[in-house]
Amino acid sequence: MAALLAIDDALARVLAHARPLAAEDVDLRAAHGRVTAEPASASIDLPPFPSSAMDGYAVRAVNTPGTLVVVDQSAAGRPAQKRLEDGEAIAISTGAVVPAGADAVVPVERASVRDGEVEVERVVKGDNVRDRGSDTVAGSLVVPPGTRIGPTQLAALAAAGVAAVSCARRPRVAILATGSELRPPGARLAPGQIYESNGLLAAAQAAAAGATAEVLDPVPDDEAVLRAALQQGLEADVLVTSGGVSVGPHDLVRALLTDLGVEEVFWGVAIRPGKPLFFGVCGDVLVFGLPGNPVSSLVGFELFVRPALGALQGLAEPRPRYLPGRLATAQRRSPARDDLVRARTRLEDGAVVLEPLSGQESHMIARAAAADALVLIPRGEGELAAGSPVDYLAI
Ligand code: AMP
Ligand code: MG
Repeated sequence: MAALLAIDDALARVLAHARPLAAEDVDLRAAHGRVTAEPASASIDLPPFPSSAMDGYAVRAVNTPGTLVVVDQSAAGRPAQKRLEDGEAIAISTGAVVPAGADAVVPVERASVRDGEVEVERVVKGDNVRDRGSDTVAGSLVVPPGTRIGPTQLAALAAAGVAAVSCARRPRVAILATGSELRPPGARLAPGQIYESNGLLAAAQAAAAGATAEVLDPVPDDEAVLRAALQQGLEADVLVTSGGVSVGPHDLVRALLTDLGVEEVFWGVAIRPGKPLFFGVCGDVLVFGLPGNPVSSLVGFELFVRPALGALQGLAEPRPRYLPGRLATAQRRSPARDDLVRARTRLEDGAVVLEPLSGQESHMIARAAAADALVLIPRGEGELAAGSPVDYLAI
């Protein structure tokens, strides 16, 4: 293995190869989780008409306080028929059109009705009226390009009259677990066999990152079978393999990928766990060879594959978002590699404190299940003392 790349260098090389996929129009009803490829602008003014902020009476402010004749009503979706004149009030509900001739709304709590008349307290012009276009106006930007559409963006686009948005298509990720020892969930284990977990892990991570996962059948460490499966995987936008990428005699993935025309960009990152991580390209296809230990696979995906999937979707900031926290207990530093330590977060006086889990070996996926954070312990001498500020990734 050549000199190990630092995390940031490796990530920069990945992102340099991850160009946004072609955009397509996506119906708003299917747009949750997609990434905008173009600015999405309002097609109408919002609100589209002057509307009432309260249930009450539409009036002319100059007529208040006073006793007014109730001449009509304006309900949400059913505007009044009449124009309001001096001395008149129109009963109105929240979200209904403020009728022509009215300039304020008296809330129902500040009005008393009797016999077709209403006595209202004083209001000033504009009180409880939401002006047309006060939220946004037709043609204004609602969601900039490169934004993941979450529930709030979805609601804003819908309200502003947008029916479809241009989004990069979802990346198709082929996932291939390799290893002769692997058995599917529920199977009986013969001596030496283990249950396959990395494929399920990567498929779930890919889906969480907005991609479409295509899980191939796991393959044994057999050259012909593995080659055929890799070839199939190269038809996707991204191929993620697990296992068989280290330096053992049965680690065939790297050599076969090269054989199949995949150009190696790097092999080996200065991280723990997950050092023998492979990244290459074959035309526009990105290929990640994740090491087989499940925690290595987890970490390698979060650090490199997830950002690549974000970049393919055109995300403005695809890099992992590290958050600040403090170590609950001292952590030894590794001299040559940055450590990603599985930890549990808790809040202490409003600040995040990270408790590293016991059992940090790369095969300990059951222990890792208790973690909600990967804490970055930068390489170096000695240890980081309890209370040290650190960066972490939420998982
Ligand atoms: P490898 O990278 O192929 O040398 O595998 C390293 C370790 O990870 C070995 O103990 C494998 O049995 C284990 N391993 C490899 N692939 C998987 C997988 N898909 N699911 C669970 N464990 C795996
Ligand atoms: Mg193996």
